[in-house]
Amino acid sequence: MQTPLDSMRSKLRVELDTLLDRHGRISAHLHNADREVPADWPERAQLFENDTVLEALDGRTRARIVQIRLALERLNDPAWGFCARCGEPIRPARLAALPTTTVCVSCAERFQ
Ligand SMILES: [Zn+2]
Repeated sequence: MQTPLDSMRSKLRVELDTLLDRHGRISAHLHNADREVPADWPERAQLFENDTVLEALDGRTRARIVQIRLALERLNDPAWGFCARCGEPIRPARLAALPTTTVCVSCAERFQ
């Protein structure tokens, strides 16, 4: 039988794979030296604008990858599932929605 910990771990791994895949594709696209840069200025401006959007997306993707890796490490910690502030168990629904959280909902509200 799968424990909540196992299902959390597999959920995070699936998300991590998706993000790594996205990051791989974005960076392959951005660092593709062979791609054609249009001679036409408006088209070139458009291309660079698209790159900026992709870079921003990649930045968010990488930030999320770091968060998930930390969350996966935290799962190995016996303190996982307990609030870092008050020590009370964090509700499973909150953990499922926010696997990277370290505080319970009342502490999150109180110390916002
Ligand atoms: Zn708490």
